[in-house]
Amino acid sequence: MTTFQQIFNTEPQVQASAPGRVNLLGEHTDYNDGFVLPTAIPQQTTVYLGLSPDEQHHIYSQELDKQISLLPTDDAPEDFASYIVGCIRVLEQQGTAVPPLNIYVTSAVPMGSGLSSSAALEVAVLRGLRSLLSLDLDDVRIAQLGQQAERQYAGVQCGIMDQMASSLADAEHLLFLDTRTLERALLPLPEGAEIVVMDSGIPRTLAGSGYNQRRAECEEAAQELGVKALRDVTDLDAIAPLAEPLQQRARHVITENGRVLQAKQGVSAQKFGELMNASHASLRDDYEVSVEGLDQLVDILQASPGVFGARLTGAGFGGACVALVKAGEGVAIAKSALERYRQTGHQGSVLVP
Ligand code: ADP
Ligand code: MG
Repeated sequence: MTTFQQIFNTEPQVQASAPGRVNLLGEHTDYNDGFVLPTAIPQQTTVYLGLSPDEQHHIYSQELDKQISLLPTDDAPEDFASYIVGCIRVLEQQGTAVPPLNIYVTSAVPMGSGLSSSAALEVAVLRGLRSLLSLDLDDVRIAQLGQQAERQYAGVQCGIMDQMASSLADAEHLLFLDTRTLERALLPLPEGAEIVVMDSGIPRTLAGSGYNQRRAECEEAAQELGVKALRDVTDLDAIAPLAEPLQQRARHVITENGRVLQAKQGVSAQKFGELMNASHASLRDDYEVSVEGLDQLVDILQASPGVFGARLTGAGFGGACVALVKAGEGVAIAKSALERYRQTGHQGSVLVP
């Protein structure tokens, strides 16, 4: 592995890390002002920083084996460096002077698999800058700045969940987050349980258009019900006047928010798993964001001994599944689920543990 020393011919001054995340409950609720329950995964992104010897920022990614150099006054780049330059720019917008830097990034968070390597990168960079420049930034502020960087400079209209999870959660805790008020709580993982994440190997080709369509449907449903967002509806009788598919979309959001609030009370691994299974059924039948391969993988996981519950995670239409399993059995459960999943003709891979 190429080191900071080898790239920049000097030692870094600070290093900082931040984890990827997986959402356990509360899917497609964030843009409805609702509740989410992500946790950090063990894989982290690490950033090493030092002062640049010249007037340019020099940015290197170990995973991409790519380096770019630019003046602090240059236009923000469009590739991976946009996330990093974005973090610098949002700090500058709030009045922080950032000197030209050597920046080295390395990560164990898989990129583009829905485990939020982008937020891990932003939070790690901002933590590094906080430490190098002795900035007065708390973890919530870091999450907000990371989200701002991604929205303004990487062009991704993301919610706040990913950055909050990366900044505030750890692999032993769930982050309950009210995405409207940012009220939050760190909760222990259900006792005797650990997490498995598997990639279905199905490309998320329809994810963008499907996501936008669901967002629009939720906005329309909220408007017809006369509320600011679907989060404001808790009574299922209230959605009876809605035509399909708006009614079933709203039903998913309402029941999903209910599941997060139930889990927040502190439930057994068994009960938590049942909530995850119900979440998958709701995403499949009411929200219609699952696909055959995801259903097959979830079915295999749910039928495996030692699994409390499983569901698709992320926007759907492909991507990853998450399962809650007996502590200590994740490796074996994931391995045998992958074997069976591959017999259905899909590829797939294990992302966690
Ligand atoms: P996800 O956040 O689900 O992994 P995104 O598409 O939101 O997927 O973010 C992935 C992008 O973030 C990558 O294409 C790359 O531009 C950037 N990125 C994340 N981690 C790294 C890294 N270690 N090195 C370079 N770029 C990274
Ligand atoms: Mg991302």
